Amino acid sequence: NREIRLASRPVGMPTPDDFALAETPLRQPAEGELLVRNLWMSVDPYMRGQMIDQKSYVTPFQVGEALYGRAVGVVVESRHKDFAPGDHVFHMLGWRDYAVGSWEGFEKIDVEQAPAQAYLGVLGAPGLTAYTGLFRIAGLKDGDSVFVSAAAGAVGSVACQLAKAHGCRVVGSAGSDEKCAWLRDVAGVDAVINYRTCGDLNAALAAAAPDGLDVYFDNVGGDHLEAALNQMKVFGRIALCGMIGGYNDVAPAPGPSNLMLAISRSLKLQGFVVRHHMDLRPRFREETGALIRAGKMHVQETVEHGLENAPAAFLKLFTGDNTGKMLVKLD
Ligand code: NDP
Repeated sequence: NREIRLASRPVGMPTPDDFALAETPLRQPAEGELLVRNLWMSVDPYMRGQMIDQKSYVTPFQVGEALYGRAVGVVVESRHKDFAPGDHVFHMLGWRDYAVGSWEGFEKIDVEQAPAQAYLGVLGAPGLTAYTGLFRIAGLKDGDSVFVSAAAGAVGSVACQLAKAHGCRVVGSAGSDEKCAWLRDVAGVDAVINYRTCGDLNAALAAAAPDGLDVYFDNVGGDHLEAALNQMKVFGRIALCGMIGGYNDVAPAPGPSNLMLAISRSLKLQGFVVRHHMDLRPRFREETGALIRAGKMHVQETVEHGLENAPAAFLKLFTGDNTGKMLVKLD
């Protein structure tokens, strides 16, 4: 059984040398355990935080030990009555070819309803993050003017399309012309900003949202948060979902210089972690599934092949070389 281990704690942008591919003997499942062959695994920006030895909402990875994260696979051997060989399951033992663990760590998924990897993307945590941030955190209302950053990514692409489905006017920012074209032409976003080429992001956002913003869905932080604050309407709401622009910073960047606007414009800024909002999952899956079937939710994925390429897939999150959900298909 092959697994990817953390070889060293990255400083700044991680490099391939921070990861190591290792071979381990495959443990046989004990009573109450399952043996699962992994089919797909997810790489996610939050894993960068887990590579730092710090107290956080996620337990840090340990140097020399295997990484772990969301994956889907097929049961090969079951020593629990509720699972049978051939069942497809979601679990947290990614970054390895085979997973062995207690049945409680596995959840059956319905691959008749959607392809297995959808449970790592549009129907999984990224999709639920978009749904939670828009509806519960930002209190999205039909017709709102909405800005989404990292808009062509896993979370952002779902957030943009959910907002469009609710009759909102949506502005999306992304780091390439191809992503902007996808947002405009496929996802139906009203105005797009390539933040790498637009020059002054403040001016670009002011031009893209001339009447101001009711909602900002923040995936990036930093300059994007500052630009959004400038365009917020009175009583605007900001869902603080992620700040990927700073995940590789060696020293923390200063906060937004215009945070005072939160007071003068009576803004609400609220951070959230999706795992505290699992109660929304049935409703989210029903609504999002219906949008997919109606052709109103376009699913975008970028796929790397083979466990050995999982570190490369992870690094691509920080260079913007993924559109939609970044996945690793395991052989
Ligand atoms: P994405 O699929 O959006 O991939 C990351 C994208 O971020 C890249 O493709 C890149 O797109 C963009 N990016 C990377 N570095 C920078 C930078 N320095 N400045 C601006 N953009 C950058 O990942 P996810 O959809 O999985 O995650 C998006 C955000 O949501 C992250 O901040 C993540 O931490 C957060 N998140 C939060 C959760 C929660 O519970 N609060 C749960 C899941 C995700 P581009 O080409 O546009 O630069």
